[in-house]
Amino acid sequence: MTILDLRAATPVEIDTVLADLDYKRYVAFMRAVQYRQSGYKAQEGSRYSRPDPAYADKLFGLAAEEDIKVAELEKEMAPYEAEFTRRGGWTRAFLVVTSGQGHVHSSQRCHTCYPTTQFHWVTGYSGHDEDEIVGDAGERACTICYPSAPVDVLARPTKIFSKDEEERLAARAEREAKRAAKAALEVIDPDTGKTLFKTERGATNEIASRLDAYFSYDSQEYLDKAAKIVKAVAFKRGVKPEDLLAELKGKAEKKFRREAVKQIKYMLKTKGFPGWQDKSDPALWYDSYRRVAKEEGLI
Ligand SMILES: [Zn+2]
Repeated sequence: MTILDLRAATPVEIDTVLADLDYKRYVAFMRAVQYRQSGYKAQEGSRYSRPDPAYADKLFGLAAEEDIKVAELEKEMAPYEAEFTRRGGWTRAFLVVTSGQGHVHSSQRCHTCYPTTQFHWVTGYSGHDEDEIVGDAGERACTICYPSAPVDVLARPTKIFSKDEEERLAARAEREAKRAAKAALEVIDPDTGKTLFKTERGATNEIASRLDAYFSYDSQEYLDKAAKIVKAVAFKRGVKPEDLLAELKGKAEKKFRREAVKQIKYMLKTKGFPGWQDKSDPALWYDSYRRVAKEEGLI
């Protein structure tokens, strides 16, 4: 049990202790109700079962045990409730959680509720301005508990949620953040809005491979294909497509040349080497390789 200096404790501190005890009290109370209901059924019997007084007594006994727990918890709550009364009370907020989206009430004794109604005691609001509570409750504010709540406030979306709802909202926010993060990585076609690549890396790899084919085969078709993807990446980066294409073309050409020189040197080495397929004749090469070989002084 939490020991508080009651005179110095804030309403939030006092109600936080109370809320915990009150929840345990509610659970014991509901168990007692259920045992008692089952006890009456066992006592009376039904179409399908004969009355069973012994079983009924057992259930009533269990209900009585829960009654004792309720009384003990109420005793434990008493000093805190007494402090609440001594100070002339303070504002409180209770959210009904029994059936999905409940109302926010100023007490658990609101006549629109029942002893079996389950509340989430929103202790963070204890001692706060009623206007603030009603404002945050919005559409959930009970009009019996807060008769002066303005109509426009009652139309507002609520900011007061149960623990389950908060967890669900947090999970949804997390899912949305993940989706947004994924979408932020995607490369889309600026003309159609369609996703072309899941990541920019995927797009630039594809551009590099198309540009390499362009330099290897001297094929305009590959350059056109690369330029189309470049347009999408440039759109994502907010740069000019022609600048980006020039940059990537420069890189791709250097890489192509490096690889071509390696290949050319290898092919030239195959001349007359026993067991190797002779590829040393430049007539067998791509035009692009012959051009590089000449430029580099290799043939
Ligand atoms: Zn109410």
